[in-house]
Amino acid sequence: MVRVCKAFDAIPEGLTSVNAVHKKEALRIEGSKHHFDNNVYAHATVKVALNAIYHNKCAYCESLIEEQADRRVEHYRPKGGGYHWLAYEWSNLLLACESCNRKKWNHFPVNGSRVAAPPSEETDWRPDSGVMRAEQPLLLNPEIDHPEAHLRFSPDGQIHAVDDSEQGVQTIKYCGLQREDLVYARKKQIDWFRKQMKCQLSIFLDYFCNNHDQTGVTFQAALSLGFQTIAEQIKAAQQPDHPFSRVGWHINNEPETFLLEDIPAGELRDVARCTLKLLKIM
Ligand SMILES: [Zn+2]
Repeated sequence: MVRVCKAFDAIPEGLTSVNAVHKKEALRIEGSKHHFDNNVYAHATVKVALNAIYHNKCAYCESLIEEQADRRVEHYRPKGGGYHWLAYEWSNLLLACESCNRKKWNHFPVNGSRVAAPPSEETDWRPDSGVMRAEQPLLLNPEIDHPEAHLRFSPDGQIHAVDDSEQGVQTIKYCGLQREDLVYARKKQIDWFRKQMKCQLSIFLDYFCNNHDQTGVTFQAALSLGFQTIAEQIKAAQQPDHPFSRVGWHINNEPETFLLEDIPAGELRDVARCTLKLLKIM
């Protein structure tokens, strides 16, 4: 999960249309018995806006949602879990993959007292309002929280709660962020960079051994053979539109652990380290 920027007052048309207004009124009267209309909360305009904000990635697990069928308009506070009044509320809608959506379901753990009825002021319905924050949700919200302060990754693709953060622990648990396919996909991304690094090091060594030229020119030539490309790929891997961009961030910011760990200690690792420094990765 990574922080995203969402304008709560830039409400998509599908949530303000005449039809949406009628549905909101029906919801107000019928309460939890209301038949939620996904033509409103999952209107095409809502999906387009969420796809842009989340770069077609799941708000919880950060995997790319390639299939339309796997794309869910997710209610952060569950409409079927005591928050029916937030069914058509823009600030309550996230983009999630089918797996996270199904796993999270109607769960919404809180540390404080639950807001049981809609606050009279609609501005208090937003997750960043004092009223809603007082619930002390234990599920991280990428639109208002700083997930990186609570979640971190290790080179084996596992996710961990930073300093046993309760929000981190509960978010991992309720969204299933430690599930096998996610761990595998994150590890695969890290392993791919490690492989690229090793491959370039062997090219460098070949070049170095066959030329016996230890001048800067040789080193620059080796750089041009591929290290620059790796550096660019690492930078790209932490951009918001990249799946698991937080893993990319770890690779870029903690290369000693994420990139160099399985390169034999000694001269070879020193070369790798030196190269990364030149490329401003370390
Ligand atoms: Zn997901």
